Amino acid sequence: MTNLLFDLPKLHVLPIVGAEQGYPAARIFCVGRNYVAHAAEMGGEVDREAPWYFTKSVQAICQSGQTVPYPPGTSNLHYEMELVVALGDTIFKGNQIRAQDVVFGYACGLDMTRRDRQQDGKDARRPWSLGKDFENSAVIGAITPRDVMGTLGPQRITLDVGEQTRQDALLSDMVWSVPEIISHLSHYYHLGAGDLIMTGTPAGVGQVKVGDVISGSIVGLSKVTHALGAAE
Ligand code: MN
Repeated sequence: MTNLLFDLPKLHVLPIVGAEQGYPAARIFCVGRNYVAHAAEMGGEVDREAPWYFTKSVQAICQSGQTVPYPPGTSNLHYEMELVVALGDTIFKGNQIRAQDVVFGYACGLDMTRRDRQQDGKDARRPWSLGKDFENSAVIGAITPRDVMGTLGPQRITLDVGEQTRQDALLSDMVWSVPEIISHLSHYYHLGAGDLIMTGTPAGVGQVKVGDVISGSIVGLSKVTHALGAAE
């Protein structure tokens, strides 16, 4: 059917480091509490039985380097700096060996969060959608191919607001490794190329305000930057 009632939704295509081609994004899965120190600062504990998830719609993607309006409906916007895994192949009910093969690459990402709306959801035992899945809430930098990044290990993951470093940890601090997450998630979804996984944030999350410039880094990857302008 080619006769559409309205235009197709906007595609979100992420840049790839060192390549002309773009990476079309399909879905965004996010891992909760994947660093022990962050779980503690949020007043919780890590669940060592299995990783758990929430999702963001692909329309929540914001390219790195943009200035966006401070989002509506919150007075407590937080940053969460995360490693993003970009899949390049299909996996369903896969083991951890297969999980490593389906990684296309990695990127720096910001899981921007309306912490007040997330807390409402926690208090009422309701979903986190207003807290997590909103426009410009998934800020994702350029994707570095897996072979260029090399083996994941004790690479530093940091986040600065202005000149101040607020988060500083190692990827090896993650509770669930990337292959463990992909393998586990593949028992619930037919994962495939275009699917993105935000792997959780280290300790040090905090509030940002209009005028703040956020910069997140992981050794070996292209930085992610984000700035907040006046609310609409
Ligand atoms: Mn997060």
